[in-house]
Amino acid sequence: MSLKLTRGDLMRSQNLIGGKWVDAAGAARFPVTNPATGETIVEVANSTAADARAAADAAAKAFKDWRDRLPRERAEILRRWHALIVATSEDLAKLMSMEQGKPMAESRGEVAYGASYVAWFADEATRIYGDLIPQQQRGKRMSAIKEPVGIVAAITPWNFPLAMIARKIAPALAAGCTVVAKPAEDTPLTALALAALAQEAGVPDGVLNMLSASREYGIEAVADWLSDERIRKITFTGSTAVGKHLARESAGTLKKLSLELGGNAPFIVFDDADLDAAVTGVMAAKFRNGGQTCVCPNRIYVQAGVYGRFADLLSKRVAALKVAPATDPDAQIGPMINARAIDKIALHVDDAVSHGASVLVGGKRLTELGANYYAPTVLAGAKDGMLVCSEETFGPVAPLFRFEDEAEAIRFANDTPFGLAAYFYTRDIRRIERVGRQLEAGVIGVNEGAVASEAAPFGGVKESGYGREGSKYGLDDYLSIKYLCQGGLD
Ligand code: NAD
Repeated sequence: MSLKLTRGDLMRSQNLIGGKWVDAAGAARFPVTNPATGETIVEVANSTAADARAAADAAAKAFKDWRDRLPRERAEILRRWHALIVATSEDLAKLMSMEQGKPMAESRGEVAYGASYVAWFADEATRIYGDLIPQQQRGKRMSAIKEPVGIVAAITPWNFPLAMIARKIAPALAAGCTVVAKPAEDTPLTALALAALAQEAGVPDGVLNMLSASREYGIEAVADWLSDERIRKITFTGSTAVGKHLARESAGTLKKLSLELGGNAPFIVFDDADLDAAVTGVMAAKFRNGGQTCVCPNRIYVQAGVYGRFADLLSKRVAALKVAPATDPDAQIGPMINARAIDKIALHVDDAVSHGASVLVGGKRLTELGANYYAPTVLAGAKDGMLVCSEETFGPVAPLFRFEDEAEAIRFANDTPFGLAAYFYTRDIRRIERVGRQLEAGVIGVNEGAVASEAAPFGGVKESGYGREGSKYGLDDYLSIKYLCQGGLD
């Protein structure tokens, strides 16, 4: 299968600032590589603080006009953007597979998923209600209205190059905010293509500004936004360490923050679960995107009575997964994003084995396919104290932990500073109620491995961050409430 684009103009290598496609101020560039082959796809602008400042200037200039547009006008532009994303979905999927490595079937799924947020927030744009507060004193009328927070800086990771940025930009624009955005250094191409489509859809100059940067330059560019008092909000998806850094460094100008951070999701299989359904749930939740998903089950807890049977069933399904580059239409697992990722996965598996875990399937690099491939892996005998227990592996590794009873499962599951997603499988309705309430996570899959939806609130608790994306709650993070008290009415 060829990944050649039908619309070559969607391959952008410059920044979008103030409606113009421009080189970085210093004219520097950096390569975007294909993780399947290590080859350079294209060199893109390597932006610095000067570019970040220019983007913020453009967003500041565009803000008043965009804020004052009728919600319906903003909604129409978002709808056109959605239509263009859908119309070019095959090209967007190819770009994504090229720079991120995920199989084409997954890239197509992500385009549809990301687009669904744009459609959702186009509708939500027209439903930003305020309140008329019941009268408290004669002659006074009190009301609360919602206003856009101002300029939003969006910073995104590489694992979902389209969905992560779409679900930030769409609510920001719907709310009447203007945006400066920096996608991850590994995957700027899909985001730049999205920006090109937004421009084509009629997003006015300066309302959406996007710049690419290498890791090192990007830190400097984002630092400029963090100290810029005109930027009122940071919306970030990525690691907890970087999220904390952004919270600290933006404190000087007290910005509003949405932080969608790392997870360490438990997946609990009780003795009374439908085991086939639970295995299907693990396959969907764990092996999607090669396990490079923040809501991936990282620790799979299986009750003693079904541990052996579950391990067998899962091992058979995992052994049948096809690992291949995105150019293979049958690929189910692609390359990992880069050398750092593959080294971390190998370290986690080696650490588990050296502490007594056994490899049921996989457990090795697939160097015959390329430098960034790792075999889908099932580990039995995983235990507390192993790296697979305490850190996000972010790869196709399913470590199985054994537990005895419900209280122990909940204690193990919650024994982490993170709280993004959690899953459990059981056929007992009272247990569903008990366990659902006790798990410390923002997103819970109950007999379900595929939980994401534009209509549902997505976000974490504890060190997985705060704020919610999607759903009717997703606009709140981009709005502030203004209270008006009108007197002299009697
Ligand atoms: P990362 O935190 O390393 O990078 C994310 C973004 O932050 C990138 O654009 C990067 O260039 C930028 N960045 C890095 N250091 C920075 C700094 N000092 N200042 C400013 N910007 C900086 O994360 P990653 O490796 O790209 O992504 C994987 C992580 O993202 C995982 O922990 C995963 O769980 C998390 N994630 C969370 C969600 C969620 O919704 N909660 C979704 C996807 C991924």
